[in-house]
Amino acid sequence: MNKREFLKTTLLGGTAAALMPLTTSAKKYGDEVKKKGKPKHWVWVNPDEKESDIDLEQRFSKWKGSGIVGVLFEEFSERHFARAKAAGLEAHRWMWTMNRGEKELLAAHPEWYSVSREGKSCATEPPYVGYYRFLCPSRQEVRTYLADKAEEQLSKKLVDGLHLDYIRFVDVILPVNLWENYKLDQSRELPAFDFCYCEVCKSKFKKETGQDIDQIVHPDQSLSWRNFRYRQITEVVNGLSLIAKKHKKPISAAVFPTPEVAKRIVRQDWCNWELNAIYPMIYHGFYKETIGWIGDAVKEGVNGLHGKFPLYAGLYLPDFKNPEEFGDAVKLALKNGAGGISIFGNPSDEILEQLG
Ligand SMILES: [Zn+2]
Repeated sequence: MNKREFLKTTLLGGTAAALMPLTTSAKKYGDEVKKKGKPKHWVWVNPDEKESDIDLEQRFSKWKGSGIVGVLFEEFSERHFARAKAAGLEAHRWMWTMNRGEKELLAAHPEWYSVSREGKSCATEPPYVGYYRFLCPSRQEVRTYLADKAEEQLSKKLVDGLHLDYIRFVDVILPVNLWENYKLDQSRELPAFDFCYCEVCKSKFKKETGQDIDQIVHPDQSLSWRNFRYRQITEVVNGLSLIAKKHKKPISAAVFPTPEVAKRIVRQDWCNWELNAIYPMIYHGFYKETIGWIGDAVKEGVNGLHGKFPLYAGLYLPDFKNPEEFGDAVKLALKNGAGGISIFGNPSDEILEQLG
């Protein structure tokens, strides 16, 4: 099952978020946008080789005219990248980072995969879904492998930048909307979903702190163990960032919605990453939240970043009841300091109108 199908099937019948009345005055919003300059919007896309050149040309030029500045492509497709660039859009490669299920890698290096507190490896017993094949971020071999993958993409002339996805641990806690689907109560961290307890991580942690994680009664409460794991991901990101810098191309990441949620459920400390932009997936339906929460989430992220780099609010189209509701979310994101939004799902003309 690919990511798209996973999202689709797990979210079917998801709760409809209650529409919060907006209090933003149109004038105030307009003034704020003027002050900050024109918002920049993005779209996450899985390029389909069946799409014709004419379709691509029309679509990309329409996007460009609607305030979209760039496309984040899940695969490299020369045709799609070239057409997007010809329309004046930036074309970035969206790369799955820690979650890597390529068959050759699974066969050659099962020991590189992340291990749960129960001792089960993502190489042989992936949690939740079959495609959850997370690598261990602490291993030098893994970092070198990912650096090679980044180098390969950034070396392509048509690739304007690198966009990291799945740059994290396995979800120790899933967004609440998915609990029912997996018949789980994750009100606490369960050992089966808590990673990485591989030998390399354990010995590296012991060397750094003098603590043996197997001897700690409540490892989920160990602050130094948490910090250690945040840092392993941060080091992977910062290593890839150096490669992007060498190519003089931007690097960004799709992350969990707020700094607090990201640290708590997937060990992402994204405010401390060396990036050029961040795209938090502020998917309100996943967390059974209202549209109003989108503004709060943006504000929390922007405050945490202290202007280090721009934040583009990731919005999940299937969770909006209508284009107007989507338009309200865009306004809230911009009002709270987002540099623009990023759209997951193919935007219709009615959706594009809401960007203007
Ligand atoms: Zn490990």
